[in-house]
Order: sequence, then structure tokens, then C-alpha cells
Amino acid sequence: MDHSLYFRKIPKTDILLEQEPMRRLAGEYGRDVLTGVLRQVLEEARRDISLADSREQAEEILRSIPGTTEKRVSDLFAPHIRKVINATGTILHTNLGRAPMSASQAERIAGLAGGYCNLEYDLETGCRGERYAHIEELLCRITGTEAAMVVNNNAAAVMLVLNTLASGGEVIVSRGELVEIGGKFRIPDVMTMSGAILAEAGTTNKTHLRDYENAVTADTRAIMKVHTSNYQIIGFTESVPAEKLRPLADRTGVPLIEDLGSGVFADLSRYGLPHEPTVMEAVAAGADVITFSGDKLLGGPQAGIIIGKKDLIGRMKKNPLTRVLRVDKFTVIALEGVLLAYQSADLAPERIPVLRMISEPADSVKGRAEKLASLLKERISSADITVEASEARTGGGSLPAAVIPSFAVVIRPTAMSTAALERRMRQLPCPVIARIADDAVIMDVRTMEERDFLETAGSLQEILDPESRISAWKKY
Ligand SMILES: *Cc1c(COP(=O)(O)O)cnc(C)c1O
Repeated sequence: MDHSLYFRKIPKTDILLEQEPMRRLAGEYGRDVLTGVLRQVLEEARRDISLADSREQAEEILRSIPGTTEKRVSDLFAPHIRKVINATGTILHTNLGRAPMSASQAERIAGLAGGYCNLEYDLETGCRGERYAHIEELLCRITGTEAAMVVNNNAAAVMLVLNTLASGGEVIVSRGELVEIGGKFRIPDVMTMSGAILAEAGTTNKTHLRDYENAVTADTRAIMKVHTSNYQIIGFTESVPAEKLRPLADRTGVPLIEDLGSGVFADLSRYGLPHEPTVMEAVAAGADVITFSGDKLLGGPQAGIIIGKKDLIGRMKKNPLTRVLRVDKFTVIALEGVLLAYQSADLAPERIPVLRMISEPADSVKGRAEKLASLLKERISSADITVEASEARTGGGSLPAAVIPSFAVVIRPTAMSTAALERRMRQLPCPVIARIADDAVIMDVRTMEERDFLETAGSLQEILDPESRISAWKKY
């Protein structure tokens, strides 16, 4: 065949750009980007035609130019980060963005994101304000502390506190509390980065008050407690609670610091979980400075919250490191929303998704699981679908030993492998992230939202029974 005939049929970029569909695509994605993509597609067409061995093949290559261009350019602009459905039963899934915001919160954040706001502007005086002002009063009121501020995450909060209060001096920490949190946070390393020197007290399993006393030197700048959020030492153990360290801190004349990790406001034992020390308890026990995460059990945005004595927080606000660790407006907006909801302990579980998921009674999860299972059974015949008891977790390195009784929709496909089903679910436009166990796909319903059920059922039908979906459409 005569290839040159088909080379001549390859359109010129400039001419194509003046015609549809390229004019429309230029409007949607930008003429500059489209031109680059189109040049590449035309070059590939030239190469493919040179390799083609029939007229039909060459014609087909020419015909595919507009479609290929549209797909390439639209792929370039498709956001990589997107909504997924968390069917893992792990409520604070760090890989899935930890705490979700409520729908009304998300709406408020979106509303403020599109314009200006009084982030650092005092509307009373018309002068510069403080970005912490929006959350400081709320935090003080809820936790009973004197002052508060916020940085990017709790790791940053610990670093700032140590750098401000103890750089160049020693900080006493129990050997039983030299914690490593997932993602490279280790107390000894953060200590070094902050410029403070770690003075270890006691042993791995037992630390007594006299161990702290013996560790005090002329260089001691602080005594620190670290909540062992993600592990437990059981058996022959002893640690010293903050209230027992208070008199020693007073005698030594140094602040008592506590890294609480998760930062819960609600008493989780109300929901059948082990008691996790609350922020209010830590304040009452007498810590001078307390740090905790915004997006663990608190259920807010990623943030590191620092509360405590006014003079100490004042020194931290003046530390140049604060500028380095500064939160953006989205964090302040989202955190204020969550804190507003926490003012009522009665209503917080309804208004904060993480608390709602933790506190939902197992019976209610079972009812929702049955709802999802029946939507699936109506649509799918090539799988065995049941509702079974399962175990959910708080996750996010919190309450490692606690399981929350839950229910799951369990799918055993009959026409494909379990692994293939799980993979296809991950590749959906709205991916469903589930677990595999006992050769079944397990969707724990505790972390799933009812508003997603219909879409999930439709997506699973498309994977498992594409034929039945087509025939269902034909009926209408
Ligand atoms: C989780 C945790 C941190 C780190 O908090 P991030 O907000 O994830 O940076 C620090 N200390 C303790 C005790 C924690 O549990």
C-alpha cells in the first residue's frame, strides 16, 4: 500500500484547531495545552501509519485522532485525589485522610474558600487580628485552660513546645514513654530537632516518682509526659500520672508538659471503649502545657493544638518557629466548626462524623448493613451476599487494643475471584476500599455513609453482573 497517501491525509495542527471538536476542547482545557497534546497525537499517528499494513488500518488511525486527543487532554485535567468509600471499618484511616468532616462543615468550608475572610483581621477595631483568636476562646471554654494556639500537626506542636521551653536544656521523659508514632515521629528525634536534650527516667516497664526526682539537674527545663496512644505495656508496670509529677515540677521550677496524642473531649467509655484520658482531665491534673492532634479522636482537620498557661503559650506565639509551622485558613475554619459543635457534649456525637461512627450502636450498624445487603441482592445474582458480625477499630494510632463490635456486608463472588473483585472495587470512579478475609470481600458498614449505598450497589452490580444492569435499563 502507498503510505504517503495517508501521511498526506494527516491534518495540519493549525487547521484542526479551527474546527470542532478541537475548538470546544481548546475552550475547555486551554489552546496551549491542547496544541501540545494534538502535536503529540499527530506524530504518533504518522508513526502508526508508517507501520500499518492495510488501508483499513490507516483509515482507522486517522479516524481515532480526535477521540485520542480528547481522552489525553481530559486525563491531564482529571484530579488525582478523589472521594473514596471507606468500607474498612477503620474510622481514623490515615491513608484515607483520617477524620471526615460533616456535610454542613464541608459546605461552610467550601463557602469560605471561594472568597476573603477575617482570618487575621479584627472586625471590631479594623486592625490586624490573630488567626488563633477564632479558636482560642472556644478551646479555653471547652477545656478549662487559659490560652491556646494551633500549628500544622501534633508533631509540630511537640517540636514548638520543646524548642520554646527547653532548647539547650534537659527534658525528663520516662523510658516507658519514648514513643514512635507511624510516619517517622519519634519522641527522641523530635527532642533532638527541637534543641532540647532528652533525660531518660526509669525503665521500659516501670518508672517511679523517685526516678524523675533523680533525673533532675541544674539544666532541667521541663518534665514531659507522653501518652502511649498506640501501644500498651501490660503486666509488671508502673508509670507516674501527671498529678503526682505536679509537686516535683513546682519544686524544680519547670513546666510540666503533656503530649496527649489523640486529644479526646468525650468520655469514650460511654460507648463501651476503654477510657482514653480526656483533654479536660489532663488540664485538671495540672499540666502546664498540653498538645494533641486535631484529626485523631477529636474528629477535626489535621492540626496540632497547644493549650495551657497564658505566659507559656505567649512565649510560643512569639517563637519564629511558629511562623514556620503556621496553619492555613482551611485548618482554622474547619477547626472552629468542630469546636463549635463540641460545646454541647450531648449533640457532638450527632454533629461530628468520627464521634457518630464511634458511638453508633451495633444494632443500628446491623440495620444499615441489612439495607445495603438487600440493595445488592436485588441487583446481583453472581455472588453470595450476607450480613456478618465484624470488628471495627478507631485507627489513627489510637486505642490499639480496642475493637468496636460492628457489622459487615460479606460478598463471595461466584463468577470471579475475590481478589479480582476487591481490585475492581478499588478502580471504580468512586473507589470502594474493602478488606479480604476468608476468601470473601468484607465491607464494614460502620465507616460507610448511607447516602453512598445506592451508588455502591450500582457500582458493584456493574462489576459482578453487568448483563443484569443492561437488562434493568431496558425495562424502563
Ligand atoms: C499521633 C501522635 C503524635 C503525632 O500527631 P500528628 O498530629 O499525627 O502529628 C504525637 N504524639 C502522640 C502521643 C501521638 O499519639
